[in-house]
Amino acid sequence: MTARIPMKTPIAEIDGDEMTRVLWALVKEKLILPYVDLKTEYYDLSLTNREATKDAVTAESAGAILRLGVGVKCATITANAARKKEYNLEALYPSPNATIRSILDGTVFRKPIGVSCISPSVSTWKKPIIIARHAYGDIYKSAEMLIPGPGTVELVYTAADGSEKRTPVADMKGPGVVLGMHNLDESIKSFARSCFLYATAEKLPIWFSAKDTISKTYDGRFKELFNRVYETEFKDKCAAAGITYFYTLIDDAVARVVKGEGGFLWACKNYDGDVMSDMVAGASGSLAMMTSVLVSPSGAAEYEAAHGTVQRHYYRWQKGEKTSTNPVALIFAWTGALAKRAELDNTPELTTFAKRLEQAALAAIEAGDMTADLAALAHPVPEAALDSWQYIDAVAKRLRGA
Ligand code: NAP
Ligand code: MG
Repeated sequence: MTARIPMKTPIAEIDGDEMTRVLWALVKEKLILPYVDLKTEYYDLSLTNREATKDAVTAESAGAILRLGVGVKCATITANAARKKEYNLEALYPSPNATIRSILDGTVFRKPIGVSCISPSVSTWKKPIIIARHAYGDIYKSAEMLIPGPGTVELVYTAADGSEKRTPVADMKGPGVVLGMHNLDESIKSFARSCFLYATAEKLPIWFSAKDTISKTYDGRFKELFNRVYETEFKDKCAAAGITYFYTLIDDAVARVVKGEGGFLWACKNYDGDVMSDMVAGASGSLAMMTSVLVSPSGAAEYEAAHGTVQRHYYRWQKGEKTSTNPVALIFAWTGALAKRAELDNTPELTTFAKRLEQAALAAIEAGDMTADLAALAHPVPEAALDSWQYIDAVAKRLRGA
């Protein structure tokens, strides 16, 4: 066997839960360790270890991503009441992804992975649509209240000097609900910067959409700050990259997206990005064919699969079944992280390996070797769907032969 590819700097390796944890180990063993002298700083974010460390391990892993510049993360359980019972937990800690996002203050970029045997359900799409989701604030960090009966609701801001600003929200005629949310100028500007950095690097036109006609102050602020970052920091860089920046209303953007051919970066506010990334993933084929990278304003990047821990498959695996769980997005999380490491360390051999592994994973599918989620959509229809172990072996074989 030839010598393994050396690495200069480690990456933060963040392990997770359930079926994705099972596949994580398998992908490493069969597809990476035979070729790369892997250097990682390992963080175990399994629910059990998060509980044992009182969730300190989550913040430590985020710190490692910032320090090392590159991280790769497995899917993790976000604990809820059912999980508390299942895992006999003492506390319910926040979603690890939310914790890591707030430490990295980043933007999440989601990109579908295309294969020639699966056509998107939107027939005009020729090129991928990349969603950039602002990962701070709005309804994800809001306060809500049930209103029991008639009365008035106001927004009150108390400044550091004690002075107040008030504005009425509603004169409630009866019981109902109320919601208060916020965002920060700094976070909106770093969101815009991350988007322009990604778009200029990838040479993709950039769209930003919001609803400033209705939300004149809140969404209006997003539009104004996004535009200011463009005008003052990126106008020349966009021109040099040959790309355009375009603001439009969210409803107009949706109408254009389903008629267009794709091939652009769509910057979305937090909720819009949550919904639109699932729409793009669904219409592109499978949730298991979507990569996700969280980029901080400092340039540190965390790569992961867009899907969760595939809980239902895990329970079947525990009973001894070899499930047909698709590991492609996990493989691409690793190749994304290795390629980023190679770019920062200037190690072209590692770049080439990451590209080869991606090509092997896609070529296997295009030759008919695929898991059940893809077999249900592919043309021509493969003779049989493979289980995850068979698929990974098919990729390993191509990697050896390539
Ligand atoms: P999920 O793990 O994404 O799975 C939902 C369903 O989508 C699966 O049951 C499966 O459908 C299909 N699916 C997803 N990934 C697949 C793959 N790689 N191959 C084949 N099919 C795939 O979502 P969930 O079941 O709602 O969530 C499970 C856990 O994941 C939760 O505890 C949640 O908190 C966590 N989660 C974590 C992250 C993250 O860490 N980034 C993201 C989302 C959710 P079939 O069963 O029909 O085959
Ligand atoms: Mg979602």
